[in-house]
Amino acid sequence: MEQGRLSTRVRVVEPGAEDGPVVLEAGAVLRAGGLVAFPTETVYGLGASALDEQAVAGIFKAKGRPADNPLIVHIDSFASLGQYFPLITERVRLLAAHFWPGPLTLVLKGGDRFPAVVSGGLGTVAVRVPAHPVALALIRAAGVPVAAPSANVSGGPSPTTAAHVLDDLDGRIDLVLDGGPAGLGVESTVLALSGALPVILRPGGVTPRQLEAVLGPVKLDPAVNGASGDAKPRSPGMKYTHYAPRVPVVLFDGDNRAGIVKRILAEAENMVARGQRVGILTCRDNELMYQGRGYAVIATGWRDDPGSIAAALYESLRCFDRRSVDAILAEGVPAKGLGLAVMNRLLRAAGGNVIKI
Ligand code: AMP
Ligand code: MG
Repeated sequence: MEQGRLSTRVRVVEPGAEDGPVVLEAGAVLRAGGLVAFPTETVYGLGASALDEQAVAGIFKAKGRPADNPLIVHIDSFASLGQYFPLITERVRLLAAHFWPGPLTLVLKGGDRFPAVVSGGLGTVAVRVPAHPVALALIRAAGVPVAAPSANVSGGPSPTTAAHVLDDLDGRIDLVLDGGPAGLGVESTVLALSGALPVILRPGGVTPRQLEAVLGPVKLDPAVNGASGDAKPRSPGMKYTHYAPRVPVVLFDGDNRAGIVKRILAEAENMVARGQRVGILTCRDNELMYQGRGYAVIATGWRDDPGSIAAALYESLRCFDRRSVDAILAEGVPAKGLGLAVMNRLLRAAGGNVIKI
């Protein structure tokens, strides 16, 4: 890895202090072309001025992100959207009214004011209004839209704390705003609106059911439920192994909870017989089944509460990298509600290593 050249500063932003000098200074750093990591209600983002081509190029460099994987432009309100997108359809207006600020990203045409590097040369620009007070205050302090992907090294689990950001990017960025743990723990839902039916390119914090209550039928891009996507990916992020810890992940997927546990225990024994160390990613319901055998067991939330699993997912995956295991045997979760986003991340982290039960 390249030696860090910058000395990355960390500044805590206490609740209620969003309009104070720390965030004002961070805004000035962005305006001057610098890179600032900040909390959002999904995960931590790595921001640059979306109007500054060179600054945006710096994001790709700091993360090691492929140039054709575009970023999300963060704005402070629906009222600002018209400044950058001349044509706002009724559908966009409706979605914004229901879900902004919040974890819904809309892929729109007509964002010609943004340099091509923001959209990976696609000609469409992804945009959202985040629902975190620090993120909103930062965008306002910067006075420019803020382009930001997640603040992690490309391909790895997203960061949900300032410490995760530093683990990945210390020395590569100017500043980290520490606003405590990000709430949701998975990224925004990315929705394409170019066709007759809206298409979910990436499941996230807003569920298909919530979207359908507002829009009517919504399609799920076929790549969402496949490890790498057999169809041509419409969101470039779909093409890369993603969200993956350094340790290989094997995903055990199916509806039969007892069957999954049995199969994982059998595979764990095989690993031990080969002299390997076992990591197990489970839920609180099943945790006890794996204990007392010398495995590294990490339990996220409860199986029937996907929100609790989402909140702990990336932290859990990152934990295994510190536990020196040879593989992570991971339980799948029901792909309902937020569980759809959790399963999408696990499938991508496993990179095709999926055992159907
Ligand atoms: P990240 O939040 O780090 O995952 O990065 C932003 C995500 O939004 C990636 O998965 C991108 O592929 C997706 N995205 C951004 N812009 C577009 C676009 N114009 N069309 C389709 N997907 C996009
Ligand atoms: Mg990301």
